[in-house]
Order: sequence, then C-alpha cells, then structure tokens
Amino acid sequence: MFTNSSSSIVHKMNCKLNNNNIYIKREDLLPISFGGNKARKAELFFKEIEEKNFNCVVTYGSSSSNHCRVIANLAAANRIPCYIISPTDVSGITFNKKLMQLFNAKIIQCTTNEVKEKISSTLEELKDYGMNPYFIEGGGHGNIGTLAYLRAYQEILKYEKENSQFFDYIFHASGTGTTQAGLISGQILNKDERNIVGISIAREKARGEKVVLESVNAFLKEMNQEDITKNKIKFLDDYTLDGYGKFNDDILKIIKTVLVEDGIPLDSTYTGKAFWGMREYLKKESVSNKNVLFIHTGGTPLFFDRLEELPYE
Ligand SMILES: *Cc1c(COP(=O)(O)O)cnc(C)c1O
Repeated sequence: MFTNSSSSIVHKMNCKLNNNNIYIKREDLLPISFGGNKARKAELFFKEIEEKNFNCVVTYGSSSSNHCRVIANLAAANRIPCYIISPTDVSGITFNKKLMQLFNAKIIQCTTNEVKEKISSTLEELKDYGMNPYFIEGGGHGNIGTLAYLRAYQEILKYEKENSQFFDYIFHASGTGTTQAGLISGQILNKDERNIVGISIAREKARGEKVVLESVNAFLKEMNQEDITKNKIKFLDDYTLDGYGKFNDDILKIIKTVLVEDGIPLDSTYTGKAFWGMREYLKKESVSNKNVLFIHTGGTPLFFDRLEELPYE
C-alpha cells in the first residue's frame, strides 16, 4: 500500500533507571524536518497527496504542534499551499510556530470550540476556488498514522533479531494515541507479548484508552484481522500533571540529566514528560533488571522553548 523509506536507530543509553537497561529509538533523528513521529507519519500522507494529485493541505494544531510544523515544511517542499487551523486560546510564541511562519503556512486562528466548523468552512472555500484539498487530522491521527507506527514496530523486531535482544517494556509519550495504536497493532500482528506503555501527556485514561482501542480496531479491520479488547492497552494518566504542556521541576531536571549524560534533547510537553513518567513508573512498580526501550518521538524545536528554564545545577 505505502512504502516508508525512513527508519531510525536504536541505541543503549548511559543513564540507568532502577537498574534497568534503557535503550532509546531515535525517531527524533528521522531525516526530515527535525524528525519525530509526525515526520514518520507525514511521509505517508505526502505519498498519498502525490499519488492522488491533491494540490493543497489542511490540518490543525496549536502553536507548539510538531505535526503542523512538519506538514508545513513538507507542503513548502512540495510547493503546495498549507492551511493550519490554530486554536488561539492554547497558543503562544514557540519555535514551531516561527518555523510554520517561515514555511509560509496560512495560519487560520479561531477558538478551540470553533475548530471543527473552521475546518469544514476552509475545505468548502478551497473547493469553491477549484482546489483539491487534502485534510489531515490533528497529530496525523488515523489509519495512515497507525501504519507508520506498525512500520516502526517492525524496525524494533528487526533490531531485536539482529542483536539477540528482547525489550520487556516499550515506553513512549501518548497523545492522540496513533503511535501507540501502531505499536500495539504490530504486537498483535506478530503475536508477541511485552508491555507497551503509553504515558499520557494530557488525556485521561478512559478517553485515551478508548481512542487507542478504536484506532487499533479500525486498523486491524483494514487488515482483515479480529478486534481486540481494551485490556491489551496500557495508557497511563498518572503523569499528565494538570494537562497538555504542563510540567514540573522534576521534568526539567531529567531533561538536563539526559542532555548531559546522553547528549539527547527531550522536551517538556512530550518526551521529557514521558521519560519522567517512565522513571516514576519503573520505581513505583519495582521493575528492575529489564530491557526497556524508550521511543524518542521527537519535538526537537520544543527543547529550545525551555532552554532558558533548565536548571544550572
Ligand atoms: C504528537 C507527539 C506525540 C504523541 O503522538 P500520538 O501519535 O499523537 O499519540 C508524542 N511525542 C511527540 C514529540 C509528539 O510530537
């Protein structure tokens, strides 16, 4: 159906948590637009745009959205207009926003409540102008995004085989749940058992779990596979703090530690929060002497939004 040309490396970290071996899959080093899970998904969206002759793209997200930055970059590269519906009430000045502007994305502002309506009116207007717009859900949610993470799961299996390794746990930041849905679909299709733990960055457990479940089942349906039940899904909301974008001093500390000890940038909205959540979880559940894989889902420009706030000692 689609081919994904990019893959990312796995390596062992210097940092140890609760005497576990921590490995990291560097999705942040994927080769386009500062990498990350949105870059992996976007490659597939743009393949479809090219194949089906769409001539502009519409999506939505806040000013800190990695998704919107990557889509704006690829639209500019492909010389097609990009329209971003952006809720003003959750937006500040960020490096991602500056990059979207640099890529000449047309940012259409509204309030969070108006997003849905704004999307349909924008799509209608573009069609009235004779354009053929391609719509992408926020965060690249949907079967195409899920497929992108099935591919990532296959890369993990390949790494394990080549290195005679097995990861007992896979942790990652979970937002719209698409990344997690892809990983779980990979696990189901390969019939292997391990803990895939999504650390929620905002959503409550009930909603997050439901969306991951629906995403997995929508994808498995397309692959003619049987449905799964929600007990296959581990979506933890213990580390969301007060919601999207909220962080604490422990998160800033761990971002600094990982940068110093491993030379890897994390951010306070997604990967730093998830890394901190992973550490807390491993302690709480007394997990030790296991091989643990953390998926670095990207967000490099977000690291710089917090640079001045990182602790000096
Ligand atoms: C969007 C995003 C996530 C969440 O991915 P979902 O597939 O929406 O769950 C995690 N990390 C980073 C850096 C992201 O940009």
